[in-house]
Amino acid sequence: MLPEFFVKSIEAQYGAETAARIRDGMQGPRRTSLRANRLKTTPEAVAALLSAQGIAFERLPWSEDAFLLPEAAERDIWQLPAYEQGEIYLQNLSSMLPPIALAPRPGADILDMAAAPGGKTAQMAAMTGNRANITACEMNKIRAEKLQYNLKKQGTARVNVMIQDARKLEDFFRFDQILLDAPCSGSGTLLLSDPRGIRAFSEKLVRNSAAVQLQLLRKALGLLKAGGSMVYSTCSILEIENESVVRSALKGKKAHVEAIDFPGMERLPLLPSSLPGALCLCPTEAHEGFFMARIRKD
Ligand code: SAM
Repeated sequence: MLPEFFVKSIEAQYGAETAARIRDGMQGPRRTSLRANRLKTTPEAVAALLSAQGIAFERLPWSEDAFLLPEAAERDIWQLPAYEQGEIYLQNLSSMLPPIALAPRPGADILDMAAAPGGKTAQMAAMTGNRANITACEMNKIRAEKLQYNLKKQGTARVNVMIQDARKLEDFFRFDQILLDAPCSGSGTLLLSDPRGIRAFSEKLVRNSAAVQLQLLRKALGLLKAGGSMVYSTCSILEIENESVVRSALKGKKAHVEAIDFPGMERLPLLPSSLPGALCLCPTEAHEGFFMARIRKD
């Protein structure tokens, strides 16, 4: 059962009808999806491989690299040599969107502020053909090792891993682009079929996450070059971790929210957001609930 505080929060934020849609999307289990890693293969080769293995797949309108596998389990993918060789990476569809919203540029200095296990770091490296200079920061040492492992497996280059609290990054650093995929309560990933995940989720976790998110976002705005852009994202659908954090961080700052806009976006299962231009995704069979806002420093 979903915690009462959460049910009340989503009803207050979204209204009864949309809250019911959110709860429907949390029935579970969630479908498997993967990203073709262009540093090692092509989407065409991945499509051919899946067909040869008899694994059904659907393509997505917003990225040629994204594959939804309506029938396969993750363990079916673990057995494929292409998985072992880092040609494909298991990644929820929603989690592929923040790098797309950021649009990393070759040659740019990019900070991935909360990077492990590294799905989005590797995706940004692939999107730039390994031609961006990426600093991947992760505070947890064990998770940073997993990050290193995943980056190596996927063939990334020009990625520098820093094991440290991103809130304490030196103030003299400056980046052209920043991804802050912030630690969060994970409210968008809850599944009724996963009682352990539900037990780990609490009102206190939401409050604590919001406090850390605000500190991280303030830091990110300081590290961003004037004219540079960043994406703030979470796998939570609660306003307190999303719109409220962005509004608080931007108060008195020379920066503004820019509308996220990429081809195929209109086909996503969107939730309303009180922050114009932000993207909030409804949990579904295929999507984790997710939030992202793109911010430009003036
Ligand atoms: N971006 C990652 C990906 O796509 O694979 C997922 C990031 S996960 C949502 C958040 C990560 O931030 C966790 O690995 C957590 O250990 C790390 N983290 C939490 N607080 C941090 C901090 N203050 N500085 C750096 N990393 C932090």
